[in-house]
Amino acid sequence: AVPTAAQIRQTFLDFFKSKDHTIVPSDNVGYTSRDGARIFTNAGMNQFVPIFLGERSADVDTWPGVLSKGLPTRAADTQKCIRAGGKHNDLEDVGLDTYHHTFFEMLGNWSFGDYFKKEAISWSWELIVERFKFPPSRVFATIYQPNKEKGDPADRDQESWDLWAEKFRSVGLDPEIHIVNGNKKDNFWMMADTGPCGPCTEIHIDLTPGPIELSEERQRAGAKLVNGSDASCIEIWNNVFIQYNANPDGTFTPLPAQHVDTGMGFERLTSIIQGTKNFTDFETAKISNYDTDVFKPIFDELTRLSGKHYQSTLPLPNEQGHVIPVTEQEKVDVAFRVIADHLRTLSFSIADGIQPGNSDRNYTLRRILRRAVKYGRTLEFKEPFFYKLVDVLALHMGDVFPELRARKDQIKAVLKVEEEAFNRTLDRGIALFESEASKGSSITGDFAFQLYDTFGFPLDLTELLARERGLTVDTEGFEKLMTEQRERARSAMKKNVVSVSEIETKEPTKFIGYDELETEAKVL
Ligand code: ATP
Ligand code: MG
Ligand code: MG
Ligand code: MG
Repeated sequence: AVPTAAQIRQTFLDFFKSKDHTIVPSDNVGYTSRDGARIFTNAGMNQFVPIFLGERSADVDTWPGVLSKGLPTRAADTQKCIRAGGKHNDLEDVGLDTYHHTFFEMLGNWSFGDYFKKEAISWSWELIVERFKFPPSRVFATIYQPNKEKGDPADRDQESWDLWAEKFRSVGLDPEIHIVNGNKKDNFWMMADTGPCGPCTEIHIDLTPGPIELSEERQRAGAKLVNGSDASCIEIWNNVFIQYNANPDGTFTPLPAQHVDTGMGFERLTSIIQGTKNFTDFETAKISNYDTDVFKPIFDELTRLSGKHYQSTLPLPNEQGHVIPVTEQEKVDVAFRVIADHLRTLSFSIADGIQPGNSDRNYTLRRILRRAVKYGRTLEFKEPFFYKLVDVLALHMGDVFPELRARKDQIKAVLKVEEEAFNRTLDRGIALFESEASKGSSITGDFAFQLYDTFGFPLDLTELLARERGLTVDTEGFEKLMTEQRERARSAMKKNVVSVSEIETKEPTKFIGYDELETEAKVL
């Protein structure tokens, strides 16, 4: 039988539990970086960093009910992550591919001064090939190969190469084909410019339609797609080996102890297992994160509410290299994907006490919500609809993330107020945009600013509308006007920031929809 997403998540956790890992809860989806910035958690490692660096001690408050003191030497979890800004910004890809979300779960296992490469690579192989039964001819591993001419740090990760080679040879595959050299960008992890760092090795899967086991010729072709933008070969799991310290003078010295930090995309893992019907069919498979039971309940509800049907179509890049939906069905399918993705990002954030607002990550949330409302127009929603999807999300994910269930009513109330506010200006803004767009080939900074200031259009939404019509936006002109406005309104802005940060606690979130509405009046 094809396992459910819940079973797949549990298999991962049980597997590492059987290897003596302590299963810890996911941290909050919001995170305060070491420089004090309030950002989103973008990887499983985030919550361990201050403890790992000895800057904070772990206690029962850190992982309630799990630990009495200190960092476990072996830990595993599923971590709620958001990648919609900063170093990892996947927002623009959402809906246009089937494997980058703004919100996703990252499954991870850690060793803090305990096991290292040998165990980590063995267990990755054991879980993927022996337990889940990924066809080995479709599995590729990357290892770090520095480009010394470019001044890349450290040495080639030969140890990882040798460990993977043993695994591939054990099933009769050629390691020269299945182990691919990766560069500093993809295969060397650094926490910051200085501090602990090291090489990583990543697992990629060739999803090309065809027989379950691929011919050697086809394996060679698959190896070339690794780390490219081709969706028929995707990355699923990153194993980072923390073994060096990057010193302020630019040198790298070995750390006294060695550590492992891994991250696997839960929705990607699920998409391959479910899409291929548990690896029995790569020929007619629809391998997409959205064709899994993670998204199906949300899509069913969207269909019930809109009368539109999801058909899994994907738009192709146009002559400018932009991926823009053309046919009606492509537009509907992109809208389904975007709305479902954004629903998760907004709901999990609000459940963790982060609301849509006017600045920083709160504004990121508001931008994401407004995008969802705009895509709702494609499904012909004129009235608030987004908040109506929260029930089904809470129903399906509330067992693993009870905060969704506990805060369901607040999430809905906040979303509804936000939707109502944007609904008041969206259509007039779009109408104005259409008439402006008919005049020329670019959108001026002045006009983009007017859309922002009067109609509440975030810049990225204006850019999206422009892209759909092959137009460009003068973002520099827009930013200049923004800076001027910010200077004019500095004192008023300060007040808003305070009112937003007051609600950023781990305490149960209070419904502040109506205060936000007042804020809204100033934005629009
Ligand atoms: P990609 O190259 O596909 O963008 P990445 O190299 O940025 O992925 P990592 O930082 O290595 O990703 O994160 C570990 C794992 O998390 C990835 O191997 C992938 O399975 C998953 N992942 C990363 N970004 C996303 C995303 N936006 N949506 C869903 N899963 C993701
Ligand atoms: Mg990425
Ligand atoms: Mg990558
Ligand atoms: Mg990666």
